[in-house]
Amino acid sequence: MTHYDVVIVGGAVTGSSAAYHLASNPDFSGKVLVLEKDPSYRKCASALSAASIRQQFSTAVNIKISLYGIEFIRNIGDLLEVDGDKPDIGFHEDGYLFLATDAGRETLSENHKLQVELGADIAFLEPDALATTFPWLSVDDLSAGCFGRTGEGWFDGYGMMQAFRKKARSLGVEYRSARAASIEVEKGKATGVRLEDGEVIAAGTIINASGADGRKLAATAGIDIPIEVKKRMIFTFKSEDRIERCPLLIDPNGTYVRGDSDGFICGWAPSGEDDPEVEEDFDVDWNLFEDHIWPTIATRVPAFERIKPGAAWAGYYDMCGHDDNVLLGAMPELPNFLLANGFSGHGLQQAPAVGRGLSELVIYDEYRSLDLSDLSPVRVRDGRQVREKNIV
Ligand SMILES: Cc1cc2nc3c(=O)[nH]c(=O)nc-3n(C[C@H](O)[C@H](O)[C@H](O)COP(=O)(O)OP(=O)(O)OC[C@H]3O[C@@H](n4cnc5c(N)ncnc54)[C@H](O)[C@@H]3O)c2cc1C
Repeated sequence: MTHYDVVIVGGAVTGSSAAYHLASNPDFSGKVLVLEKDPSYRKCASALSAASIRQQFSTAVNIKISLYGIEFIRNIGDLLEVDGDKPDIGFHEDGYLFLATDAGRETLSENHKLQVELGADIAFLEPDALATTFPWLSVDDLSAGCFGRTGEGWFDGYGMMQAFRKKARSLGVEYRSARAASIEVEKGKATGVRLEDGEVIAAGTIINASGADGRKLAATAGIDIPIEVKKRMIFTFKSEDRIERCPLLIDPNGTYVRGDSDGFICGWAPSGEDDPEVEEDFDVDWNLFEDHIWPTIATRVPAFERIKPGAAWAGYYDMCGHDDNVLLGAMPELPNFLLANGFSGHGLQQAPAVGRGLSELVIYDEYRSLDLSDLSPVRVRDGRQVREKNIV
């Protein structure tokens, strides 16, 4: 039977970052295999993402993860260089702009205090300052806004994933095109991965980086995780009027819009009954754009009354039903099966810190750089939450 020290299920951004961080660590000399069921990556979240990074979270651990993420993104060319080829993921450091009415002002202010305490460069702006800084913005109903002056923006998410993958391969990580059907378990240990054709690959440690399929894969090992698969759509458009330096703007009702090459992208997450769990449903619902998104953004930015809609697509969020944050690490009953599931829409920017954290768990059995233990899946069983309030 083939044996690897580490088998990673899922070769998109999380799996490839973990693979790179393992292979580049001088304290690790093991063999790593990444299993990827769809090497075209057409449907994975990493390829369909809005690929933006922000420091404006409400939990300390997420802010620290993004502070590392931005440092990594700024240096990605050097860190992931292969044979003189430095990846360029086109980082646009244009910031996020979270807006609040009176109802949301206190939460915005609390979050801002924490972000600044931890070293994020976020400005708290009163309506007058908002109107001066963003003259195209309608501020009449607003009480305040928070703007990321540096350290926030967007990048080529697919490019980041491929850069991790290419670097990992250059360091000896093997990628195989195959679907993991189940995790083999014996006497409280994960022993290997069974492929669809019945072949079993033995493994010292297994990492579940299978995105929206994470819950199903974990279930084959007897681990139940509260991950719900939700459809999220992105709509593109061009504006007839020029909008200078549009950050990633989040309206108080949760609708977002940001610049993108020569146009804009926007989206919104429905809730409750309008946001069912999905499976193999990548259809775009244009009513969402017509009935909710466009009216919102055209009220917030009057120039967006004159736009030309373009392409649109749908992808999946792996939502953590427990507290909207990733479940990272092992459950005590299966210590060599590491979960990285439930990113809840912020997993691309978390890939550098999460991949590094996973590699440290494999090599040292503890976090050595950034302590991510708050995100342990054990919190679900203990009834402890790390609730992220800023979900976009
Ligand atoms: C519309 C949209 C907008 C988003 N915007 C942002 C954003 O602005 N910023 C941000 O940080 N994040 C954003 N996200 C979230 C982010 O894209 C994801 O959290 C992140 O890409 C998750 O990466 P992953 O590698 O864990 O999962 P995925 O990218 O889903 O990859 C999982 C991989 O595992 C493979 N796989 C699954 N099951 C198996 C199996 N059994 N065997 C073998 N392979 C398997 C899949 O084929 C896939 O390639 C967005 C997501 C979407 C959909």
